[in-house]
Amino acid sequence: MTVTVRFAPSPTGRIHIGNARTALFNWLFAQKHKGRFIQRFDDTDTARSKQEYADSILYDLHWLGIFPDATDYQSRRIQIYDDAVERLKKAGVLYPCYETPEELDLRRKIRRTRGLPPVYGREALTLTAKEIQDLEADGRRPHWRFLLPNFKSDPQEPERTDIHWNDLVRGEETVDLASVSDPVLVREDGTYLYTLPSVVDDIEMGISHVIRGDDHVTNTGVQIALFKALGADVPAFGHHNLLTTTTGEGLSKRTGSLSIEGLRSDGIEPMAVASLAVLIGTSENVQPMATMAELAGHFNPAATSKSAAKFDPEELVVLNRALMHSLSFADARDRLAILGISGDKAEPFWNAVRGNLDRLSDAVSWWRIVHEGPLEKPEFEPEELQFVREAFDLLPDEPWTATVWKDWTNKVKEASGRKGKALFLPLRLALTGLVSGPELADLLPLLGREGTLARRP
Ligand code: GLU
Repeated sequence: MTVTVRFAPSPTGRIHIGNARTALFNWLFAQKHKGRFIQRFDDTDTARSKQEYADSILYDLHWLGIFPDATDYQSRRIQIYDDAVERLKKAGVLYPCYETPEELDLRRKIRRTRGLPPVYGREALTLTAKEIQDLEADGRRPHWRFLLPNFKSDPQEPERTDIHWNDLVRGEETVDLASVSDPVLVREDGTYLYTLPSVVDDIEMGISHVIRGDDHVTNTGVQIALFKALGADVPAFGHHNLLTTTTGEGLSKRTGSLSIEGLRSDGIEPMAVASLAVLIGTSENVQPMATMAELAGHFNPAATSKSAAKFDPEELVVLNRALMHSLSFADARDRLAILGISGDKAEPFWNAVRGNLDRLSDAVSWWRIVHEGPLEKPEFEPEELQFVREAFDLLPDEPWTATVWKDWTNKVKEASGRKGKALFLPLRLALTGLVSGPELADLLPLLGREGTLARRP
């Protein structure tokens, strides 16, 4: 069996880091099993779905390093769902219902007060042909519910019916079909809700493993019943925990919170996003992984916790910084060139500054400091000014070697009697305009004797 997975967002907004977690779980699972990854857009809600969102989701996936083997849209597959509906009707497990939302709400309340579970009471099954005729004559159109197999012979007497599966993430799972309502599969206007198209596609597309958020655990019980009603093999399921903000709120595509696009424009590296999205809320340490292959080596769905994982965007910056520190010049070269950082000095420059960057784009201001001098002219107290000027007068002659900083500061130490911070800080300030930054031993050769002297205050 070829492992086949799918990522199935509805294109109703930009994806966020929580959606990326689902996509990455599927992608890494496919990578590990040399399987296929299908990008499926669940766009049966035509009012809210937009092509531009689908396009942006594909863009975000590519940026993360996910390259689907195939892409499809549910809105283009309606005929297949219509056929499945006919089969379910023929089998007698899809029945028309005429209740309005208000009527359903009232019934739910009555059931609650009677101590009954607030599930649909299957009243529509007791409608006579005449009653149906009258409702239709009144202009009512039916919505269609799937009759869950949770009874022996009388649907009005549902009994505990446990559906079991061995979840890739959560282990043994059970959903009691008597605890859920018969799901509406088709709306009054003939459009489809999520449940049926998802199952039909999973069958048609040969999905072997459905990996998604744990907000779908109950759906899975219902969908397993639907797979069986359609005479199909049931795939394996895995439900990962969801990510929340630090204050415990869920992430939403619609509000754009922590969107991949936002993180990208904030200069966060795709592998920082991927490392956090995959490793947070698992028993693995969250560490920066440089490549998807490396991340795949640490990916273990069964090590994922069952409770929601709180996610702090600050952690992304920490991971980003770590990725910058270990990013080789060969890997950074092209991106640096786009930022205007190129030429002979680009490589030693990169090696000097990368340890000080939160984001790759932070290299630009260091490049300016190296080429043009401090971004703001440093101010010195008179005593410091005199010290710095005297120090500059002791700059070694050319040619400069790798030890020039050491040679120079040794001379300054001897002449001034200063050491430690009192010696280095004023020099750093004069050279860079800042109190911290890359090793001066690395920067000085980049400035050259002439460039250094130009910074004499
Ligand atoms: N469109 C569904 C969602 O975004 C897909 C769930 C699934 O993977 O089956 O929640």
